[in-house]
Order: sequence, then structure tokens, then C-alpha cells
Amino acid sequence: VQEKLDLLKQNTYNSVNSLLDSTALDLAAKVDAKIANNEKIGLLEGIPFGIKDVYMVQGTYTTASSDLLKKYKSPYTATAIQKLLDAGAIPLVKENCDSFGHGSSSENTVFGAVKNAVNPELVAGGSSGGSAVNVAKEYTAFSIGGDTGGSIRQPAGYNNIYGLKPTYGKISRYGLMAYASSTDCVGPLAKSIEDIRIVLNVMSGKDVKDQTSYNSKEINENDILKNNVKTVGYFKNFIESEAIDASVKADFLASIEKIKAAGIEVKELDFFKSDILVSTYYTLAMAETASNLSRLDGTNYGDRIEGENLKDTYSITRSKNFSEESKRRIVGGNQVLSQGFSDEIYLKGLELRDHISANFNKDFSEVDVILSPVTPSAPPKIGDSLKDPHAMYLSDAYTVGFSLGQLPTLTVPQGTVTGLQITAAKNNDELVLKFANFLK
Ligand code: GLN
Repeated sequence: VQEKLDLLKQNTYNSVNSLLDSTALDLAAKVDAKIANNEKIGLLEGIPFGIKDVYMVQGTYTTASSDLLKKYKSPYTATAIQKLLDAGAIPLVKENCDSFGHGSSSENTVFGAVKNAVNPELVAGGSSGGSAVNVAKEYTAFSIGGDTGGSIRQPAGYNNIYGLKPTYGKISRYGLMAYASSTDCVGPLAKSIEDIRIVLNVMSGKDVKDQTSYNSKEINENDILKNNVKTVGYFKNFIESEAIDASVKADFLASIEKIKAAGIEVKELDFFKSDILVSTYYTLAMAETASNLSRLDGTNYGDRIEGENLKDTYSITRSKNFSEESKRRIVGGNQVLSQGFSDEIYLKGLELRDHISANFNKDFSEVDVILSPVTPSAPPKIGDSLKDPHAMYLSDAYTVGFSLGQLPTLTVPQGTVTGLQITAAKNNDELVLKFANFLK
């Protein structure tokens, strides 16, 4: 633990918002004492992990990488994190990310842009960029990210590790700062499928504090050993799109060839155009975040900046302390929800989401899993994506659809620039892990 804390402290990737050193060392000493006494210890006992800085962990700074919450300390602990603590895992660090999960590069943060673990000139991806880098550099054994539209899968792909967005509701969201509540998911990033499986099992289950959470069966080691995927599908228009880089396309088609050679049937599927997926997702995500973040006005939460009257105080506090990207989303979200626009934009978005989900249901009556690249292109250089927010939104084209469908999706590292994404039907997280294990 001490060694990992030192590495985190000295790291030059900007992956750390705050270190939990004294707690971590106390917990480690307890585990050491147990070992010295020959007491039995659990699977996760003493295992060091990282936490994206959007999770409540009692007594720790929980900043969402924002100025607004820079001095905010959590009054309680998120359910998923509490379950890991109960299993004896040791929290080392609150990790840098895009502020409030808003972004795809981990540059939208007051703690400095996170650098890619493979090539530090490039972005780490986002929004769980710090978490992906800490795992890739082995500063943490695993990290807990948050994925609303790709924030676990995309940085996992950019840093060549595994990252799982479980089925929506499999893990309680209680204590995860809400971005877009209807797609927010808690999930692990790690270097092996086995680690993903163990951590997923510990965090899963119904929680009375999150009414969208549900109980699911534990996934045993043996459950994922024998592949039973017979048919794999992929979206033709993802691969034929003009937006895809030639190298990403070539890597993906090479994986498809390998799968075919292993005797698995591969089907081409029809799907919505990427720009429809992106606009549907951003319409709903902006609407939900505008609503969720309205409580951060300097009264109960947020660093208050006094104005001449209450309205002024709200407005100065929010304008000074939210990032440009978060403000863009709050303004956009309020617009699509407002009278005169909501019928045409927000309700249309909800309708499209139903069509997207229906499309997935049809697909999963024909194929066992769907494969896709994680992103259409390689990670950009640090600084580039901030210049063009619209281009950044479009780079989420391959992850956001699965979020709208609330499906389990895993990024599998392939030594390529973006990784391979495996998706299955709702609550079939086991199949995703099984197929990933088969591809290993
Ligand atoms: N990049 C996407 C967005 O900015 C996804 C972010 C996330 O999953 N938190 O909304």
C-alpha cells in the first residue's frame, strides 16, 4: 500500500485528485496484523483500489473535479464503495475525471488534463480517465469508474485495459453523483477479466436506497470458462461510416476474421446512424444533468459566492464555479426541457430511445453478442478536443447507444488504439465476460 501511495503521489499523469493515505495505511496495518496472526483473509482484503472523484466516501473530498465542490467533503459513503470496504479492499485515491462526468477526454477538470498511460501526449479518455491510467500503470489493482455514455469503456480502450459498464441497475447508484440518472452506471476497470468478475460480484445487488437497483445471480469462476456464443453481430453502419479511422476499421475487421475462423457465425446488423445515437443521447443526458445539477447553487452544496441578492448569489456561484462544458450542458438541457421545445426535442428523444431499445431487442433474438470498436478514432492529442465540443460528442458514437439501451458492455484491450466492445442483452453480464474470456 505504501509503495502504491508513493507511486500515486509522484505520478506525472494528473490521475490523482486526493490521496486517502492515512485511512489506507491504517487499513493495511490491520490486514498485516491478521496475516501475522495466521487469520484467514478474504479475496479482496488488502487489495488497493482507486475511486473516481464522483463517489461519496465519508470524510473525503468529493470534488467531481470542479471548482464548485473543491472543498466539499462527503457526509456518507456510496453503497458500491461501502461493499468493497466491507470486503476489506483498501481505498487509496480519489481519481481525476471530467467534471461531473461531462466529457470524453478528462481535460474538463480543475486538476489538469489526465495524460494517457500508453502515450502521455495523448488524452487518457474520459470521463473516468484518472481511473483508467491508475489501473494501466498499476498504481491501483482496480478502480471504480462511472459510465453514463462511455466513461468507463472509452478510457479503458484508450489505455489498453478492461472496463465494464454493467447492466443498468445491477449495481446501486446511491452515492454516485448523478449525471444522467437513467443511464448512470457504476463499474470496474481492471487488468484482467477475473478482477472485473470479482469486483462486479461484490458491488452488485439490490439496495433500498436506489429503487432502480435489482438482485442478480453471482457470476462464478466456472460460469465464464466455457464459451457458448454461437452468433456474433456487428453494426454495418458503424464500420462503413465515414467517421471511422482506417486503422480502427482494420483492427476491428481483423478481430471479426479471427472470430469467424474459430467457427462462430458473424452477422451484419442494421442500426441507427451514429449521429442519431449521439443526438438522442446528448438531448436526454443534457436534460437530466440540467435537472440533477440544479441543486448545486451555493446553498446546500457548492462553494458560495455572495451576490447582492439570492438570485445573484445563485447566478454568480454557478457561472464562476461550473466549467464551460458543464454550463453548455446545463443551458442545453434547460432549453430542450423548456416550454415550446420539450415536445419537439425532449419527447422526441425519449421516443427515439424506445426505438433504439426495440432495435436491440430484435438484434438479441438473432445474435448472442454484439461487437463494435469502442470509438471511431484513436485518442486525440491533449488540447485538441477542447477546441471542438461537437467533434468530441461525435467521438462517443459507438458507446452511447448501448447506454441508452441500458445493456451490459465491456471494453476488451487488444493492444489496438481503442479496444473491442462486447455487448449482450440486459442482465446478461455473464455472457459478456464469458465471451471476453474466450477471446483472451
Ligand atoms: N462522453 C460522454 C459524455 O460526456 C459520456 C460521459 C460519461 O459516461 N460520464 O456525456
